[in-house]
Amino acid sequence: MKPLYFWPCLDSNEAALGGSGLVGKAIHKVVNEDDTSKDETWVFLSSKDGDLVDRKATEAIFEKHKPTHVIHLAARVGGLFHNMAKKVEFFRENMLINDNVMECCRIYQVKKLVSCLSTCIFPDKTTYPIDETMLHNGAPHSSNLGYSIAKRLVDSMNHCYHEQYGCQFTSLIPTNVYGPHDNFNVQDGHVIPGLIHKCYLAKQKGEDMVLWGSGTPMRQFIFSEDLARLIVWVLREYKEIEPIILSVGEEDEVSISDVAKMICSAMDFKGQLINDTTKADGQFKKTASNKKLRTYKPDFKFTPIQEGIKQAVDWFVENYSVARK
Ligand code: NAP
Ligand code: GDP
Repeated sequence: MKPLYFWPCLDSNEAALGGSGLVGKAIHKVVNEDDTSKDETWVFLSSKDGDLVDRKATEAIFEKHKPTHVIHLAARVGGLFHNMAKKVEFFRENMLINDNVMECCRIYQVKKLVSCLSTCIFPDKTTYPIDETMLHNGAPHSSNLGYSIAKRLVDSMNHCYHEQYGCQFTSLIPTNVYGPHDNFNVQDGHVIPGLIHKCYLAKQKGEDMVLWGSGTPMRQFIFSEDLARLIVWVLREYKEIEPIILSVGEEDEVSISDVAKMICSAMDFKGQLINDTTKADGQFKKTASNKKLRTYKPDFKFTPIQEGIKQAVDWFVENYSVARK
């Protein structure tokens, strides 16, 4: 089997596009530790290998690697505030990347394509828990409209490619991901890496730390290496075109305030946590069901969030000079 991993990419038979990012780096680690992958050739690609917004550059990548399997992680990715500020770019870049990757997978006869959606693209007004069947049931939260619509189209196109060409294109739906190699940029990143960076700076300067919004919204978080293990399983074993939610259970949902306290504790930060309620809260919750995942993987063990946050904090402190920030 040859996965092409966008970026990351499995070589001449298997590739990952999007391989230099938070999730791509975690897949790289998991694959390196795994015996099965010894019979596979994995290539992990980044934007330096070609801009997937560009059709010709995308074709050149497929021509060079001729992957049999592709994990498509490449995307413009960001937290709530980046999504609110750049809705057009989130729509256009992701739509172009996804269109180029899917069409090249068809042309180059890729045996399986696994693309990555997100629980933040589900309808805003909904019943809970959300499951895979509800993806297109109503408008997403306005804060990430551009990103959500571009991502939802991937699911629609997976079905179109399957029905018209018999392509084995599927998608997975992770919750908010965190871990080593995240984007720790305070303005653009997600809440966990953003708060880790803010906490680090507040500790250095002996200042209080500012939490944006009320701290009451609820989120499910998945540690990047847990997600990586599940993505490799999806690539090798999941046969459906329908998407699958990759999430911790509903009972593991936590408030933003509680996550901030865990970060302060892992960083041994002794200052105060201050709420800036002039900043947006975003969607209050998007509680997702992992019932479908549990039917396939009843015994999968998720990393407890305190443990995962400790690993992410330690990685950031040790790699401060090279971390994306
Ligand atoms: P990330 O750390 O920002 O990594 C994004 C990857 O995409 C990088 O390898 C980046 O390459 C590549 N990339 C971006 N634009 C590209 C372009 N125009 N051409 C080629 N490569 C490009 O993001 P991530 O958190 O790992 O996200 C991976 C996937 O998971 C994405 O599809 C994202 O939407 C989805 N997801 C993420 C979260 C989350 O909380 N992070 C939650 C749900 C779903 P460079 O490193 O060279 O820039
Ligand atoms: P989301 O889960 O897709 O909404 O995106 P984020 O990972 O950016 O999480 C946003 C939630 O965290 C909102 O309720 C924000 O108000 C809250 N939040 C608190 N402090 C921060 C911060 O420093 N950065 C970010 N991105 N969000 C924060």
